[in-house]
Amino acid sequence: MTRFDAIVVGAGQAGPSLAVRLGAAGRKVAIIERHLVGGTCVNTGCTPTKAMVASAYAAHLAGRAGEYGVDVGSVAVDMARVSARANTIAGNSRRSNEDWLEGADKVTLLRGHARFEGPDTLRVGDDLLTAPHIFLNVGGRASVPDFPGVDKIDYLTNSTILQLDRLPARLVVIGGSYIGLEFAQIFQRLGSQVVVVEKGSRIVSREDEEISAAIQTILEEDGVRFRLDAECISFETRGTDIAARVTCASGEPDELGTHVLLAVGRRPNTDDLGLDKAGLETDARGYITVDDELRTNVPGIWALGDCNGRGAFTHTAYNDYEIVAANLLDGDTRRLTDRFPVYGLYTDPPLGRVGMSEAQVRADGRRYKVASLPMARVGRAKEKGETKGLMKVIVDAKTDAILGAAILGVGGDEAVHGLLYAMQGKVTADTIRCTTPIHPTVAEFFPTLMGSLKDPE
Ligand SMILES: Cc1cc2nc3c(=O)[nH]c(=O)nc-3n(C[C@H](O)[C@H](O)[C@H](O)COP(=O)(O)OP(=O)(O)OC[C@H]3O[C@@H](n4cnc5c(N)ncnc54)[C@H](O)[C@@H]3O)c2cc1C
Repeated sequence: MTRFDAIVVGAGQAGPSLAVRLGAAGRKVAIIERHLVGGTCVNTGCTPTKAMVASAYAAHLAGRAGEYGVDVGSVAVDMARVSARANTIAGNSRRSNEDWLEGADKVTLLRGHARFEGPDTLRVGDDLLTAPHIFLNVGGRASVPDFPGVDKIDYLTNSTILQLDRLPARLVVIGGSYIGLEFAQIFQRLGSQVVVVEKGSRIVSREDEEISAAIQTILEEDGVRFRLDAECISFETRGTDIAARVTCASGEPDELGTHVLLAVGRRPNTDDLGLDKAGLETDARGYITVDDELRTNVPGIWALGDCNGRGAFTHTAYNDYEIVAANLLDGDTRRLTDRFPVYGLYTDPPLGRVGMSEAQVRADGRRYKVASLPMARVGRAKEKGETKGLMKVIVDAKTDAILGAAILGVGGDEAVHGLLYAMQGKVTADTIRCTTPIHPTVAEFFPTLMGSLKDPE
């Protein structure tokens, strides 16, 4: 039995920073990783996908070059080089994470699968490790629902699709949410014919209807097709193709693809951790239950990142680390409930989202004002020749506090931060209306947006 002051399970987006911080504070730390240091984000999530978004954007812009008065000749995509570029960027990031962890004071990086033997003991292969403090950062993986026939086909996930060095001729994407839409646009722009199959009546149903509709239109203009209300999904191989049955209604055509990507949600990596041996509680979907400071029901064990179900992003995992480190090492009282929901959808143009949607505000029963203006009015967007999308803000009618915003447009993922900082700092809509921003930018339109707030229809 090897004793440590702290054990971190999983080297994703919270674990490494926490291990290094604890080591720097003089604690003897083990961090255990069963696969790739950097976890999902670095290896099969944010980093490679955003690298591919950039390749897809380059292909798309090259195709539009004539609109800018630039002749480039014909555009050809070399998928092997697109994949290699994404994997090189991810690999460099992984190696720099590994070097950082391996060089950190008092931190030991162990390779292997960790499983509880008791509330303060973990087994990694033949080794037993014990510590009074254990931090779980085990993340999640793609869900594979038991659609009829799914076990008979070679489907892709967010991990395996990154290994393709030939472009799929016809790609069927199952799932019209964030991950599915990013891949749909990437592959359509690189040259595949893409159809998105979504069981709901609209894509990204967490967003307001006008945002879902605008994103669908943007992707359709790129050539992506949509099959909504797909209440009856099943698969079978047909020659060299895979047939995706979309509806139970007879006569409706199946979608035939050379490849199928399953992008129907994520599940936490908690089923193979031996949670019962530690007495750890989860919710019905397997997410480890935590309090406002990320403590589990077992004293001495914390759960951070995707595995606690309180965020599904790299920035939320990293913020979990900040909360735990500040409370444990700095005597602070930082809490989960202090953070505003904020995220991006990296289609082109991207969606930057902060706070509540209009539907959530309405369901909350608050009196509110709303403004929604097209990106076509934004000077910067016109100059760049990228005018698709809209910006929308929802403001409390009584206090003038900003409740939420959606910036779907060029630079929307960056510009939304102006509103995030305003919300965190309790800056009112009227203060923004009276501020002088830089011209020409996307965010310079925020005062105009605040000046056009109205009662909802
Ligand atoms: C395609 C895709 C695109 C994404 N794009 C974005 C984006 O643009 N922006 C964003 O903010 N988020 C994005 N995300 C989400 C983001 O990747 C995750 O929210 C983030 O990686 C969560 O970090 P984590 O540390 O909780 O878990 P992970 O990054 O999943 O890391 C968990 C680690 O724990 C290890 N592990 C698990 N079980 C054990 C065990 N028993 N023993 C030892 N090791 C174990 C795993 O191997 C893994 O390395 C994307 C996700 C996907 C799938």
